[in-house]
Amino acid sequence: MVLAFTLRTLSSRDFKVYSFINKKPILFCLSIALLLFYHIPLFLCLNQNKKLFLLNTFHLNSTMSAFGKFVVVMAVVMLAISLDKASAGDPDMLQDVCVADLTNSLTVNGYLCKKNFSEIDFSSMAIAKAGATNNTFGSLVTGANVMKVPGLNTLGVSMARIDYAPGGINPPHTHPRATEMIFVLEGELDVGFITTSNVLITKHIVKGEVFAFPRGLVHFQQNNGDVPAAVVAGFNSQLPGTQSIATTLFASSPTVPDSVLTKTFQVGTKEIQKIKSRLAPKK
Ligand code: MN
Repeated sequence: MVLAFTLRTLSSRDFKVYSFINKKPILFCLSIALLLFYHIPLFLCLNQNKKLFLLNTFHLNSTMSAFGKFVVVMAVVMLAISLDKASAGDPDMLQDVCVADLTNSLTVNGYLCKKNFSEIDFSSMAIAKAGATNNTFGSLVTGANVMKVPGLNTLGVSMARIDYAPGGINPPHTHPRATEMIFVLEGELDVGFITTSNVLITKHIVKGEVFAFPRGLVHFQQNNGDVPAAVVAGFNSQLPGTQSIATTLFASSPTVPDSVLTKTFQVGTKEIQKIKSRLAPKK
């Protein structure tokens, strides 16, 4: 258990350990196998610079009791579990606050922490007012994420508001880093997401209602009413990211080759070029 705990502590703080397990899974498994079957000291080699670091040495007696062996097996199981880096949102923070220094040119996973910060870094009026919906899709997403609220850096949450004109749509899109939950402020919406098994989950939602869109799944909201609608959205990421399916495929820069799109959508070049011209960024 001590072993598992020690390695868990190391793995959560030392990227090299994680990197090693990802890049050299065979070596990692070998060291575990050696531990299990030959009762030799366990070592994890960090190979970043072809150097071998001795992280932990546990002398396991080959004549140890069955209980002792059980403890070792349990320790390894715990180790395997503790090294699983999968998580449901942004990584856990390691300090009270890490207010984003958005001006620093150094890049890390997230943003560097500012030395001096104040209440301003934790507030914003970004989503106080309705956004302008006089655009192609008749909707506007306004984020209140780490870019607007630097104090959100490493906190793993953010918000947005989305405004919809009558007939407006927030077209099918995904958030690679977050699950989304919306709360209807005004109006009514037809919303939905599609599972990876290609099942559409859809519902008509009204003022006061909430709806959740699972992380990474393609989803949309459409205002089929004759009055404007608005929602507040919450995300379990400081910067959920958005990939809008249509604009990703038809309005990227440089453009996705027509041949890719004609084959994908089983239509001719003319149809593809028509869609591309309709979705081209307005100048
Ligand atoms: Mn969304």
